Amino acid sequence: MSSSGGGTANPVSENGHVNPVSENGPLNPYATIARSVFIEEPPVPDLVQRILSDPRMHDHTGGFLSCLQCGICTSGCPAARFADYSPREISRRARDGDPTLLEDDSVWLCFYCYTCQSRCPRGNSVAVINQVIRGMQVEAGRGVRHVEMFADWAVQFYEKGMGGTPPEFLPHLAEAFGPRWREFIDHREEIRAQLGLGSMYPSEHAAGEMRVLMDATGFSDRLAAMGAPVGPGAVVAKGVAPVSD
Ligand code: SF4
Ligand code: SF4
Repeated sequence: MSSSGGGTANPVSENGHVNPVSENGPLNPYATIARSVFIEEPPVPDLVQRILSDPRMHDHTGGFLSCLQCGICTSGCPAARFADYSPREISRRARDGDPTLLEDDSVWLCFYCYTCQSRCPRGNSVAVINQVIRGMQVEAGRGVRHVEMFADWAVQFYEKGMGGTPPEFLPHLAEAFGPRWREFIDHREEIRAQLGLGSMYPSEHAAGEMRVLMDATGFSDRLAAMGAPVGPGAVVAKGVAPVSD
């Protein structure tokens, strides 16, 4: 609404700012523009906030905010070579806080080779940006189907302190690698003992400490949400003692 023609102008502008007014209209019609453009920061989108606050981004926040869109990341990305995927585009959309990234399956094409990170002239890391977005997709449920195949490995980490050979994958791996590999896997602890080597697994005390960390950081909760038998109590029920104080 125009304030010309005298009278008392509405002191509240469309964007909610209170304008200084006199009976002849606003004292300074540019004040609102100046305040909104130069003084008040625009709201930071949730996605940008989440990326900036993620601990894995601690070395890359400056690079994330100053991405040049030079495309060097895309030129060296193996996934971009073979798929309809561009880390340069991921960087731009993430910087814009584009919420459609949270429904975009293309972030799962990245396989964390970190070529983009090592070549970026700004120090950005699309590899880490993808990790944050994937985590958000898993939290929202959409991304679960991309990670549930790894739950068996994660349970091994929870129980033994390392991935080892998840039982669900063993038959498939044996089929791929052959009977001699399977024989080796079935006897590897004996073979290690004959060679004078200790168990390849961490001590039960170390594994128990890892479980404490996994419980504290929510790792086991996320696994349990996928139906995996983990979490405080689950390991005890299987006869594996937790770490003691
Ligand atoms: S290489 Fe770095 S600066 Fe260039 S587009 Fe990729 S993320 Fe942005
Ligand atoms: S880490 Fe991912 S985005 Fe970066 S170069 Fe490798 S596959 Fe591409």
